[in-house]
Amino acid sequence: MNYEGTVYRPPSEARSLIIQVTIGCRHNQCTFCSMYKDKVFRIRTREEIYRDLEEMSQLYGSLPLRIFLADGDALTLDTDRLLEILLWIIKLFPACQRVTIYGTAGDVIKKSIPELISLREAGLAMVYLGAESGSDEILKHIKKGLGRDHMIRAGAMLKEAGIDLSLTLISGLGGREHLKEHALMSADLVSRIRPEYLGFLTLMLEGDTPMRREVEAGQMELLDPGEVLEEMKLFLNHVDSPGTIFRANHASNYLNLRGQLNRDIPQMIRQIENAEKTHSFRPEGLRGL
Ligand code: SF4
Repeated sequence: MNYEGTVYRPPSEARSLIIQVTIGCRHNQCTFCSMYKDKVFRIRTREEIYRDLEEMSQLYGSLPLRIFLADGDALTLDTDRLLEILLWIIKLFPACQRVTIYGTAGDVIKKSIPELISLREAGLAMVYLGAESGSDEILKHIKKGLGRDHMIRAGAMLKEAGIDLSLTLISGLGGREHLKEHALMSADLVSRIRPEYLGFLTLMLEGDTPMRREVEAGQMELLDPGEVLEEMKLFLNHVDSPGTIFRANHASNYLNLRGQLNRDIPQMIRQIENAEKTHSFRPEGLRGL
């Protein structure tokens, strides 16, 4: 199987078989994101996708593996096409444990509840959705193309359809000026959605992105590690999402945090305060995306 360009996947899909059903990201305009800038978005043909699945099934077909559908906007596929792919997976990987996918809130709300239920019944277990921030002002600034209402609606629809949601936010995305707004509005967003999983990355600017140019021009100030932790503490002090599995243990994060909301919030805040006292942050040179 030949992957087209660089392939990205969530940290928790590190051991999954990744199948590209789309190439790139349909939106591809977020000002901080450099992931798919080298790709022109397209939906792969049925033949391409089936060829990859069949080839991989000859190697791994009998194993109890997990399958992740990429690239950035895979849920944009028509429901009929996705159902066909899920049926191929059932046939070619009978021991497959779960199928997950990258999607946007826009992809979710374009589908109906019966469509989402049919995808869940055909094996789609979870959608990874990059909300990035709960603040409409920040979402507009980064040209996300979607607002918090879209995220809230998408979260409710997935819940109704019984598909798990893994939501991602980005620490520091509002810069110094919007630290408080980002923390409080993100806490409010998560409290309204109550996703099954919540992941935090920390902003890193790679490549020649519009946000990097803003920073270089002095129009936006990035947070230092202490401010990133201050923002996180504010978020944790205001979020209310019992049962959500929380992870901020990505290579981009200055401090690894993990736990269950709300139960483990006091312990995570203590961990942040200890790191602040001892200045024990992940060094810049060891951070990565
Ligand atoms: S952040 Fe997500 S939606 Fe935005 S350009 Fe990157 S891949 Fe596309």
